[in-house]
Amino acid sequence: MEFFKGMGQDAVKDLYEVVSHEMEKYQAMNLELNMARGKPCKEQIDLSDGLIDGSIDFAIKSDYRNYGILDGIDELKTVFADVLKVEKEEMIIGGNSSLNLMYDTLMRGMMFGMSDSRRPWIKEERVKFLCPVPGYDRHFSICEALGFEMININMDENGPDMDQVEALVSKDPLIKGIWCVPKYSNPTGITYSDEVVKRLASMKTAANDFIIMWDNAYLVHDLYEEGDQLMDVFAESKKHGREDRIIMFTSTSKITFPGAGVGMLATSKRNANRFKQQMGYQTIGHNKINQLMHARFLPSTEAIKHHMEKHAEIIGPKFKLVDQILNEELDKYGIATWTKPNGGYFISLDLPQGCAKEVVNMCSETGVTLTDAGATYPYRMDPKDSNIRIAPTFPSIEELELAIKVLCTSIKVVVAGKVLGQTYQAGA
Ligand code: PLP
Repeated sequence: MEFFKGMGQDAVKDLYEVVSHEMEKYQAMNLELNMARGKPCKEQIDLSDGLIDGSIDFAIKSDYRNYGILDGIDELKTVFADVLKVEKEEMIIGGNSSLNLMYDTLMRGMMFGMSDSRRPWIKEERVKFLCPVPGYDRHFSICEALGFEMININMDENGPDMDQVEALVSKDPLIKGIWCVPKYSNPTGITYSDEVVKRLASMKTAANDFIIMWDNAYLVHDLYEEGDQLMDVFAESKKHGREDRIIMFTSTSKITFPGAGVGMLATSKRNANRFKQQMGYQTIGHNKINQLMHARFLPSTEAIKHHMEKHAEIIGPKFKLVDQILNEELDKYGIATWTKPNGGYFISLDLPQGCAKEVVNMCSETGVTLTDAGATYPYRMDPKDSNIRIAPTFPSIEELELAIKVLCTSIKVVVAGKVLGQTYQAGA
C-alpha cells in the first residue's frame, strides 16, 4: 500500500500513536452529532416561513379549497414550467414528495407498462435497472422493494459511463431504465456533461419501453454565483423523437419545507396524459392550498434564484469548511479524495479500499453518525468499501467542524492501522 506519500514505517507509527490519542479524547467527549441525512438546517427552513400567509385568497380563480384539478394549479405550473423548460401540458404537480412520484411511476411501469408497449413489466421474467454509483440510496431501495435487478454503472466527473450504459441497453430488452441525478448529483455533486446528456437522450435501447428517471432534485441549488449548467435533456430527446423516455422529477423540498413542499414531474404529453388517467384512480387532487402558497411565495424563476441565494449564504460556508478541514487534515497524506461541488447537498469522500465501513463505525462509536457506508450503492454493497457521503447542511458550523475533525482522525487511525497491520482499540 502506497499511502502516506512515501512516509517511512516509523513515521506512520508515530502518526498512529498521535491520532489514536486524539481519538481517545474525542471518545471521552460523549458527542452526539448526526450527519446521516441531507436535511436543511433550521435557519434554511426559517427562510420560507413567509410561505404560510393567512391573507391569501384561495378562491380567486376557482375554489382551491375544494376537490379537483388533478394535475396541479396553473399558477404553480407557470412558475415551474419556466424553471424546467417544459410546457404546462407536460407537467403534473403532485403532493409533498417527488420520491413518491418516482415510486408511483415505477409501480405504473410494473402494473400497466410504459410508453406504447403497455406490457406490464411484471410480466417480464425479470426487470433490470441501471444505477450509476455512488448514487441516492432511496432510488436503490425502491428498486429493491419492487424486485428489480440493479446494475452498477460507474460515475465520473461527467456523469455515468456512457460506453457501459450504451453497451448494456442496446442488447438487453429487460433493462427498463436508468436513474439519473443530473445536476449536483447525490452524493458526488457533479453535473452531467453535454455529451452525456446528448447520448442519454439519443441512445438506441433494446427495450421499447425504456425510461430515464431524471431526478433533478438540485436543479436550482447553486452554492456560488457561477452555478453548473445542465443541458436540456428533454429538448435533446425531442430532436430524436425519444421524449417518451424522459421522466423528470423535482420538488421544493430543499427550496421551502422538506416534507411540506410540492413534488412534480414533467414528461411527454403522451406520458403525462396517460399518467393523469392512471392517477385519477389514486386521488381526486393534491393539496392545492400548498401549491398556491408556493406560487405566491415563489412567483418566478427570478424569485426562486433570489431565495436560493439565501440558502447558499447559510450552507456555502459549511461546504467550504468541510473542504478546508479535509485539506488540512488529509491532503498531505494522500489517503483520501473528495468532491468539491458547486451546489447540491453532499460531498463524496473516497478512502483506500476496505476502509469506509470501519471509519463510519469508529465515528459512530464516537457519537458522530454518518450515512452508513455502502448506502450509496445498490444492495448497500460498495464493492470497494471506500465511499462515504458527507452531508454538511444540517449541523451548525461548530458541530460540523467537530464532526469532520472526528471523521479525519478516524480515517487516519484506520488507514495507518491498516498500513501497520494494527487494529485500533479504545484505551489500548
Ligand atoms: N431525490 C434526491 C436526489 C434527493 O437527494 C432527495 C432528498 O434528499 C429526494 C429526491 C427526495 O425528494 P422529495 O422530498 O421531493 O421526495
